Amino acid sequence: MTVPLTIVGSGMAGLGLVRQLRALKDDRPITVITADSGDGYSKPLLSTGFAKGLPPERLAMQSALEVAEQLKVVMRCHTRVEAIDLQSRTLRIGAERLPWGELVLATGASPAMPFRVPPALGDRVFQINDLDDYRAFHGVLEALGRPARVAIVGFGLVGCEFANDLTAGGHRVALVAPEEAPLPRLLPAPLGRALGDAFSEAGMSLYSGRSVAGFFRQGADVGVALDDGNQLDADLVLVATGLRPRTALAEAAGLPTGPAGIHVDRTLTAVPGVHALGDVACVDGVNAMYVQPLQACAKALAQTLAGTPTDVVFGAWPVLVKTPLLPVVALPPAEPPARWRLEGEGQDWVALAEDQDERLIGFALTGRCVRRKVELARAAPALLG
Ligand code: FAD
Repeated sequence: MTVPLTIVGSGMAGLGLVRQLRALKDDRPITVITADSGDGYSKPLLSTGFAKGLPPERLAMQSALEVAEQLKVVMRCHTRVEAIDLQSRTLRIGAERLPWGELVLATGASPAMPFRVPPALGDRVFQINDLDDYRAFHGVLEALGRPARVAIVGFGLVGCEFANDLTAGGHRVALVAPEEAPLPRLLPAPLGRALGDAFSEAGMSLYSGRSVAGFFRQGADVGVALDDGNQLDADLVLVATGLRPRTALAEAAGLPTGPAGIHVDRTLTAVPGVHALGDVACVDGVNAMYVQPLQACAKALAQTLAGTPTDVVFGAWPVLVKTPLLPVVALPPAEPPARWRLEGEGQDWVALAEDQDERLIGFALTGRCVRRKVELARAAPALLG
């Protein structure tokens, strides 16, 4: 007899798992519980919407109701699970105790907010990590009725992609971060500087080597105080300072967790009957917060749940950063490399990360050199072989 399944989270991981199960003709009862609207959408498209002038409704591919009908699941939207009881096999949702047969945690990751935001600036300082966040930011941007001045904090993938996208959408972007150059975790400095140059040439103001000291109201503007004593005036601020796996539920329940997520083995199992995948999961020591790994996990976990225990494998899958001002592809090495071997000039760079024995363990490419991604990915080690 198949055991009913309860999934917490309706992002690409949670719904991706349901799709894989249904593709295997597994028709067990499934309940998906989600704190957000439950609409089906592709998160990577959030940082491409402003250039294309896409309103949030164009990014939602399916309403929660359509998802429920198509996948034959019960969707409980805007519903936050407050606790997991492993002994009684129940979830706490307010006064309700909801029993589960088999449980999957696909609770994603939440954006870090290292700054205090005064309550009066709650409608000006944003983070965008889901469609509801995009709706809120888009609404305020539209209400301005003119190109906005947006201060983006953070040189990571999310900050850089939104910086490129908002600039392409006609807005004026200032990008602030303590590091020397954009994408410090993906690119060695010369490649990061090439991206920074492309951003500057497109009209962005870059404030590298600077941290935010605080936000304050400055008339109709938000004032962003920098630690070097300077100040930026903006209509809106977007904070993109990294993501942390949402492990609180699992940790409080006594499941194995750490800073990299809920610890699961390669069958995506934390303890018998409880699984995790997506941004929240640390699979055999690897937390890869990208779509390709979570799709591989959804496929493997669907097989396991359907009765064929299956280990997940992650290939050498490079990250394609959506910065059309300067195309970037990177496969960051799992360990700090012994050396980066750099070749290139101007916008076109190849950087090869090598270990002590001169073996390729990762790479980064910019500009016209991104076409080498397939050849180099074939030579690089798998993320989880
Ligand atoms: P999420 O989508 O965050 O879903 C988590 C779900 O859990 C949500 O439904 C939430 O409501 C729910 N939840 C959390 N806590 C609770 C609770 N207590 N009770 C009930 N529900 C709860 N990756 C790529 O590979 N390529 C890209 O180009 C790319 N671009 C990106 C651009 C942006 C702007 C961002 C933010 C990410 C991007 N990524 C990209 C990363 C990729 O989108 C994520 O790895 C992926 O979407 C994570 O999916 P998830 O289902 O694990 O988490």
